[in-house]
Formats: sequence, C-alpha cells, structure tokens
Amino acid sequence: MTSKPAREIWEAALGELQLQVTRPNYETWLRDTVGVSAADGQFVVGVPTPFAAEWLSKRMSVVIERTLSRVLKSSVRVSFQVHRNADADGHSVPAPSSETAADARPPVPTSAASRLGRLNPRLTFASFVVGDSNRVAHAASLSVAERPGEAYNPLFMYSGVGLGKTHLQHAIGHHALSLGRKVLYVSSERFVNDFVTAVKEHADEDFRQKYRTVDVLLVDDIQFFVGKEKTQEVFFHIFNDLHNAGCQIVVTSDRHPRDLSLLEDRLTSRLVWGLAAEIYPPDYETRLAILKAKAEHMKEVIPPDILDLLARRMQRNIRDLEGALNRVVAYVRLSRLPLNLETASQALADLTMDRSRPATPEAVIQAVAAYFGMEAEALRGKRRDKRTAAARHVAMYLLKEDVARSFVEVGRLLGDRDHTTIMYGWEKIASQINTNPRMRSDVLEIRTSLAEPRLKASG
Ligand code: ADP
Ligand code: MG
Repeated sequence: MTSKPAREIWEAALGELQLQVTRPNYETWLRDTVGVSAADGQFVVGVPTPFAAEWLSKRMSVVIERTLSRVLKSSVRVSFQVHRNADADGHSVPAPSSETAADARPPVPTSAASRLGRLNPRLTFASFVVGDSNRVAHAASLSVAERPGEAYNPLFMYSGVGLGKTHLQHAIGHHALSLGRKVLYVSSERFVNDFVTAVKEHADEDFRQKYRTVDVLLVDDIQFFVGKEKTQEVFFHIFNDLHNAGCQIVVTSDRHPRDLSLLEDRLTSRLVWGLAAEIYPPDYETRLAILKAKAEHMKEVIPPDILDLLARRMQRNIRDLEGALNRVVAYVRLSRLPLNLETASQALADLTMDRSRPATPEAVIQAVAAYFGMEAEALRGKRRDKRTAAARHVAMYLLKEDVARSFVEVGRLLGDRDHTTIMYGWEKIASQINTNPRMRSDVLEIRTSLAEPRLKASG
C-alpha cells in the first residue's frame, strides 16, 4: 500500500509540476503516477510502466527532486517504481515484483487487458458533470456507448485542452465494455508510435489486425496525425474497414476536422460523416457543479465561499479547476491549517508565485491594465482618478515584489515617477494585502493571469 503522507506530498508536488513541465509531458508521464513512500530523504513514485519509470528518471528527475524538496522543505532523492494500478486514481496496488528504473524490464507483452488499452476507472459517465457547454457531446457519447456503430459514426469531439474529451472517450469505453463489446482506446501519439515500430519490425499486418478486430475504437487527440502522411493513410484504411463492419469509431481533436489540414482529404471527409460535436469552456454554474462533485469524491467538505473563489478564478478549463482544488486540499492537509478563504488564497498564491521563469515588467504592466480594464499607457500617464491611481499602486507593488529590484527602477517603468511615490504606493498595497481580502484577491488574480501565458509559452 502507499502511505498516506507520501500520496499527499506527491499530490502537492504534482500541482507544482503541472506548472513547470509542458502539458503533453505532464499528461503522458506524470498524470497517472502516485506517491508511494517518503523516508530518509528518499521519495518513491509509483508509475504505470517500466518505460515511464525509465523516461522519468532520465528526463525529469531533476525537476521532480527540486519540486519535492521544496514541498518537503528538505532535500530528497526520487526513484520510480512500477505500480500496476498507478493510473487507477490513487488506489494504487504495487506490482508483484517491484521494478525500479535501473532494472526496468520491457512491459509484459499483450495481456488481454493491456491490449485493450488502459481505461481510467475514474473517467465514467457517472463522474461527468453535464452543463450547456458539453451537453451535445455528452448526449452523443451516451448514444454511441449504448448502441455502438448505430448512432453517430464516427463521433468526432473537439475542444481546447482540459474540457472533457478524454473523459467522455473513457466513459464510452467503460460503458461499451460493460455491454460486452471489445474496446480499444489509444492516444494518437501511441498509435503513431506503434505504427512506426510495427513498420520497423515488418509487423504492419499485425498492427492493422489489432485495430480491425475491435467493436469500438477510441482515438484521442488526432491532431498529432497532422504532417504524418503514412500514419494518416494506415488510419484511413483501418477507419474504412471498421466503418464498413459497423464498428464504432470515436475520435477527438483540439479542432474541427476541416482545420486539421490532414494530407489525406479523404480522411477529413470521413471524419465528418457522423457528428462533430464541440465542447466549450464551462460556465460558472457548471464549474461550481464540477467542483462540488470533485470535493464530494475526495470526501472533503469545502465551504461555499472557497468553491466560489475557485470557480471564479479558474475559468478556462476543467483540468486547471481540478488542479486548483487539489492544490488547496493538499495545502491545508499538509500545513494542518484550517480551510478558509485565507489559506485557500495562500495555497493558490504559492502556485502562481512559484515561478520557474519570472514575468517581465512589461507583462506585469499589461496584466494589471487588463485586469482593471484600462490601457497600459494609463498606468504610465498622469491621470489621477481613483481607479487609475489604485491600479497604478497595484502595478507598483507587483513590479517591486515580482520583477524589479529598486523603487527607482519601478519609477522609471511607470512613466518616470519619483521613487518616493513608488515607495508610498508599494507600502499602501503591502499593508492592504493583509487587511483587505478584496485587495488580496485582486493581486492574486493578476498573478494567476500572469502565470497563465507563461504556462502556454512553456507548453
Ligand atoms: P481533454 O481531453 O479535453 O483535454 P479531459 O477529458 O482530460 O480533457 O478532462 C480534464 C479533466 O477534467 C479530467 O480530470 C476530467 O475528469 C475533468 N473533467 C472534464 N470535464 C468534466 C466534466 N464535465 N465533469 C467532471 N469532470 C470533468
Ligand atoms: Mg484529452
């Protein structure tokens, strides 16, 4: 069994790692990992496959050790161990023989389960919250899960990241499996990889066979096929065979098929034969409902004002929303502080202030201006109305705290103001931050908005 503290520590570390590594790397290598044990400066992370153990220890151990050391406030060494159910939502079961990265064996060849791909037990219809933003995709997913090959074929779902495409695919998979259908879920990166390997080993026929013999084929993030002509071609043939045989195909992507610029035009047109359903960012009510569901699942009682804070703060996607909730919960558990607006804000502030790459002064000025709904020029200019002055003070504070070195420099950045003016503005905000929750949340939100573009830039 994993120890509880190790799990919590790892959850907190994952929250930070999510901000430090690119999204594909996070998704592929870190998402399905668990904290196994923490003792004597050694931290063991459970991972789903020997390959993941090897990859992580070669490519990510430095950043992971740095992050863990920060969370634990003491230096640690990390090692990776294969846990058979590392992806089973934290209900981790150690593999019969524990393998470390050093003596990693190749994965056991195709047991029925592994051939069928991994479906995350957490991602079901029951745990999917329906709102206006995803209603169509959800309804379509339910129909194809109930009657594979009969309703919409293919079902194509598209959206930005973290809005539930993979969740719905897994949900379809679980449901179809429970009806005794043969299901294959595959990320398109895995599909490409397997195909390339098959070609190298002259096993393309086996490859095709594997895909042709399923009732439901789920291919995730097909945008990775862009520019890969051979892969598109082989997928086109598999697609046709399955479609002709009345088997269900479900494909997701970050954009509509017509915007995929696939080299195979024939494939583009096939992809819209069935239904192309877009998923939109969730509205406030849906975000709140999702948070409530997640909190319940975590057996956490979260006060309404904190749910509200999170739902307002994390607007863009559900993954970040979840990440923020996990982060807050892990923070209060680890620090043993009570859960309130104050500690929740602290947990989130940490997250945005923990910068691997600092913001630039210009980015800060832009972010403050955008937050207060004015032009950056206004902050550098002479206007003295209350709102502009308040925004300018916040800019002074953030420039001093987060990027610049001296009051003189900040003065120069804000339209050649005297350093005593800057000092005054800085002091004002620095003290209000401790007394005025509104001010605290303003500053926090600007910091969050500053962290986001950097995430994208690094992703
Ligand atoms: P995508 O594949 O679109 O990038 P995911 O399906 O991976 O997004 O979703 C990101 C996270 O948000 C997952 O943990 C998922 O369970 C959760 N999620 C997404 N949509 C919903 C929803 N409607 N209800 C509950 N959780 C959701
Ligand atoms: Mg996905």
